Amino acid sequence: MSKILGYNRQMRILLSNDDGYLAPGLAALHHELTRLGDVAVIAPEQNCSGASNSLTLTRPLSVFEAPSGFRYVNGTPTDCVHIALTGMLDYRPDVVVSGVNNGQNMGEDTLYSGTVAAATEGFLFGVPSFAFSLANKDWEHIGDAARVAADIVEHYLAHSLPAPFLLNVNIPNRPYEALRNWRATRLGKRHPSQPVIRQENPRGEPIYWIGASGDARDASEGTDFHAVANGDVSITPLQLDLTDPAQLESVRNWTARLEQCR
Ligand code: MN
Repeated sequence: MSKILGYNRQMRILLSNDDGYLAPGLAALHHELTRLGDVAVIAPEQNCSGASNSLTLTRPLSVFEAPSGFRYVNGTPTDCVHIALTGMLDYRPDVVVSGVNNGQNMGEDTLYSGTVAAATEGFLFGVPSFAFSLANKDWEHIGDAARVAADIVEHYLAHSLPAPFLLNVNIPNRPYEALRNWRATRLGKRHPSQPVIRQENPRGEPIYWIGASGDARDASEGTDFHAVANGDVSITPLQLDLTDPAQLESVRNWTARLEQCR
């Protein structure tokens, strides 16, 4: 039962991801979260990594149920959480959880990430939301990462945070016993992405693969990159207002000058 939520019922968790409803990270996190409460899963049918905050507006969406009981949608991570919160569920979940993603989401990754986007959709509807990513592309320690992720959600139940919030969590690829340190971090910065990779299809036409993300440019102390490199669990609170306050005055003057010239 939840102590901080102030009522005697199971916590209700909405779980999604961007790797698709068959991803091992989703199953592992579902397994761990069931010790905290009721978990409703609604995830994309396909791998939607890199989908960002996209909504499907040009066709209707269908919801299917897998033998596992997980529901899945022929849409994006944002579609999944949006559908769940705006009509599919007949209750408001206490938290939205996304992950565990196959690969890190640090620095500028957060802008492209479907994992972060699923949690962002929860946050936009005022629900405390968590995005979890395993900072490695193989699934070696996915069970350990899922266990830490559930610990973090559980920690919120015991020790409230001003809500709503959007926490972006990156978990090093390590055994559970080695994941003892949790660090509050800011996003680091990456160099620009690697160049696109050009190939030819069997018909001799050019095709392009988006290149790998850039290496860390700001991985200084206090960043997500720094924490994960040290083997610590990185927890970054995100906000969605992209306004650049440092540029606002310059742009104000610049537009005023434009008006004078007309
Ligand atoms: Mn992914």
